[in-house]
Amino acid sequence: MPRKTTISLIKCDVGSLAGHHVVPEPLLSIGEKNLKKAREDGLINSYYVFHVGDDLQLLTVHEKGGSNPEIHKLAWNTFQEAAKKAAELKLYGAGQDLLKNAFSGNVRGMGPGVAEMEIEERGSDPIVVFAADKTSAGCFNLPLFKIFADPMSTAGLIIDPGMAGGFKFEVMDVKENKKVVVKCPEEMYELIALIGTVGRYMISRVWRARDDLICAVGSVTRLSLIAGKYVGKDDPVMIARAQHGLPALGEILVPFMHSYLVQGWMRGSHWGPIMPVGLKDAKCTAFDGPPRIVALGFQVANGKIAGDDEGKPMIADMFDDPAFDLARRETLDYASMLRRMGEFEPARLGVEEMEYTSLSKVLGKLKDRFKPA
Ligand SMILES: [Mg+2]
Repeated sequence: MPRKTTISLIKCDVGSLAGHHVVPEPLLSIGEKNLKKAREDGLINSYYVFHVGDDLQLLTVHEKGGSNPEIHKLAWNTFQEAAKKAAELKLYGAGQDLLKNAFSGNVRGMGPGVAEMEIEERGSDPIVVFAADKTSAGCFNLPLFKIFADPMSTAGLIIDPGMAGGFKFEVMDVKENKKVVVKCPEEMYELIALIGTVGRYMISRVWRARDDLICAVGSVTRLSLIAGKYVGKDDPVMIARAQHGLPALGEILVPFMHSYLVQGWMRGSHWGPIMPVGLKDAKCTAFDGPPRIVALGFQVANGKIAGDDEGKPMIADMFDDPAFDLARRETLDYASMLRRMGEFEPARLGVEEMEYTSLSKVLGKLKDRFKPA
């Protein structure tokens, strides 16, 4: 039996330092302490705690499979403990993503974002995890399309026989809570027709068509649809697998050489350019942004993240690289252009997207003053 290894990336905004800026050290330490203990207890084999902006990110590698209640409980308890600390410190938005009180075996639908991938380890299994702040899961639609379906971006679609037959995309309709599987290249136009609507249709999984090998998994939620009101953008995470008949690691990263517009930014109510950054710059400032994304690369080896002799995982900070300077420069250009437009569309999101924000309350005040024209 080939070894089955699970990569779980579970994240939550439990409160942050100075508005929506960063997860401060005392909260990261709680993550570190709890995951270290879980490794010592044998629940998980490897972990890496980090943050992107105001989201605490718990990356674990284990052999318990996806949606495992023990793994989810570990994350839930860690977020609860960190939120309690955040409340003590009067940090901003303490516990903001913890939408439910009682844990019922799985953090899905309770506020935290989850991407989990169970794999049969290949000879070598390079993985990239992406985590973004001040945006939503639809931000991965464009790069996932480019990585797995666009032959002008991923050379392997043309020149690697291992990818012959293309890829299948699971797309969630988060409004109707339905999903559909679309295959490329045959249904490329239909796929684009769907996923171009980034606020509603979001790619949740990608498989290699010829053998259903899992290649990518995203965290698809709409917190506002769970909570019924605006509670922050979903700040998504995504796991992608590279090489050996899949896109090369560089083909997974190349779509981020250019910035593009995503939903989120200030109050989750604006279009903003996404900025690929190293961990050191994974913090939002101007207009609570611009939205940031990090990419961390590692190798899965024997149920763990390949590490040094002490078991410390080896993590590559992929966007901490001058190759992404152009995208960062473009981000600033696009950001300044959009901000000059203030609250006029399309800088602000359209009316359907604003439904769950406080804008409806503002408009409600004028309701009775409208007269037939
Ligand atoms: Mg956030």
